[in-house]
Amino acid sequence: MWLLLTKKEMANVLKKAMSGLFDKMLSSAKVIDVKYWNPSSMVEIEVHFPTLQTEKWKTIHRVKCRVGDLEYRDYTPSSWDTGKGTFKLYVEAGHDGAGSRWAQQIKAGDEILLGAVHAAQIPLKEGRILCMVDLSALGHVLSLKQLTDQGRFPMDVAVFLHESFHIPEYLQKENPEFEFLYRENEHNVSVLEEWLMSKKLANYESICIAGNTPMVSQLRKKLKANPQVGARILAQGFWS
Ligand SMILES: Cc1cc2nc3c(=O)[nH]c(=O)nc-3n(C[C@H](O)[C@H](O)[C@H](O)COP(=O)(O)OP(=O)(O)OC[C@H]3O[C@@H](n4cnc5c(N)ncnc54)[C@H](O)[C@@H]3O)c2cc1C
Repeated sequence: MWLLLTKKEMANVLKKAMSGLFDKMLSSAKVIDVKYWNPSSMVEIEVHFPTLQTEKWKTIHRVKCRVGDLEYRDYTPSSWDTGKGTFKLYVEAGHDGAGSRWAQQIKAGDEILLGAVHAAQIPLKEGRILCMVDLSALGHVLSLKQLTDQGRFPMDVAVFLHESFHIPEYLQKENPEFEFLYRENEHNVSVLEEWLMSKKLANYESICIAGNTPMVSQLRKKLKANPQVGARILAQGFWS
């Protein structure tokens, strides 16, 4: 039977089989709320997934979501409520990509397929944490904040915005230490570097950088070359 299939048909059969295999490793969860920022390219997705054991989380996690046929993307669960079995995803969806399209069409009541795994360590040495991220890593810093005792690990956070977003009031109220930085036509690295240079770098025990991969590696290089920096640097590139 196999010999009668063309190469294209064979590839399709294999693709379907692989997709079925991946999907079996994921679990079903329910979307309970979707909010769009202004502009609408930032999507907040609230998910109900009661079997996720968030009370055991000691590190930042990622959920691998099925966003299309054989298409899977990682997003960072944050603002989880163990009692209610819910968490939020903050998805940047202004570009053309399978994950972006998935987030733009998702609605409350949808069943989604996902699996949660460890994504990144959190700082262990007590002391101030400096965080520099772009909007795709907002969930990353919110998750870090939820996992750390803010008395022992106070955070100073800069979130680079590539568009002039209106930041939801609740987010600003709950996170006064987050600075959302937007400068028209300015590059992520120069905006974050200027912010970074306004800080007394010797005061930090840890520095976390996450988001666009070239941005992360350039900032990391600059910090490594700076003699004032004694902090441990935790860096994670998400997309390039
Ligand atoms: C551990 C981990 C956690 C992550 N958590 C989040 C999260 O919480 N929220 C989130 O939004 N993303 C997160 N990401 C990134 C996410 O998994 C996808 O890589 C990203 O959203 C792009 O997927 P896509 O299918 O939309 O675009 P792709 O098909 O991967 O890319 C299509 C095009 O869009 C460009 N592109 C991709 N992402 C962006 C972006 N954010 N802004 C502008 N252009 C882009 C690419 O360079 C490419 O040219 C995470 C990644 C990792 C590894």
